[in-house]
Amino acid sequence: MTQWVLEGLRAGIRTTRYPFAPETAAGVSPGLPAAGELARPDLERLIARCPTAALASADGRLVVDARRCVHCFRCVRGSDTPAPWQGGYEWATGEGTLGKTFTRSLHIRVVDAGDCGACLHEVKQLAGPYYSLHRLGFFISPTPRQADVLLVVGPGTDQMREALTKAYKAMPTPRTVIAVGTCALSGGVFGSNFACGGGISSILPVDVEVPGNPPPPLAILHALLLATGRAAPAAKERQTAGERMP
Ligand code: SF4
Repeated sequence: MTQWVLEGLRAGIRTTRYPFAPETAAGVSPGLPAAGELARPDLERLIARCPTAALASADGRLVVDARRCVHCFRCVRGSDTPAPWQGGYEWATGEGTLGKTFTRSLHIRVVDAGDCGACLHEVKQLAGPYYSLHRLGFFISPTPRQADVLLVVGPGTDQMREALTKAYKAMPTPRTVIAVGTCALSGGVFGSNFACGGGISSILPVDVEVPGNPPPPLAILHALLLATGRAAPAAKERQTAGERMP
């Protein structure tokens, strides 16, 4: 026992300081493709390489729809002219409808609506000692009846349509829906098909969206902070010039 206390004292606090300080540790985010100026042939080549039409051209510039990006890296790896890339993790967009009343006591019901496991794995990281969502007053709820947030991962398969609707209706008001990951936002590689409708918004009113495939835990934390009015949303369309990916 004493040995573990001493080990703990030696190791110090490892929990992220976010949102009180920016997280700068290596590997906490894969980043996102960014808008930028490119020569026309390079622009066309990059757009053709993207499997989900996340890249497009507007007024001769490369623009990115982060809601569609599946992080396949085809636009940076093996491409003669890699797409501009940006770091960071404050990716959530939408509106914080819950308000500051919930600042220190927010209960979250997580629903897997056809997730492959990747986004769910990132959500689980939030309860670990590094991200420690409890320090911010956020708690995972076992039931929608005690939840303020319905946090949904996966594209929203037809088989989960009824379960999602029932969970939403069982929640007390005010309530908010956070869609996590590209599949939940746009259907991702599945799109709209015989088994799902191209994202959670075809089933429920979505208040906050978190792009990424999967989004890193800090991006999900940003969405929870946004839902309670403790953080500003990211720009919906990423038009900022990015850097080259190393
Ligand atoms: S990383 Fe995203 S933007 Fe780039 S090719 Fe893959 S899906 Fe398209």
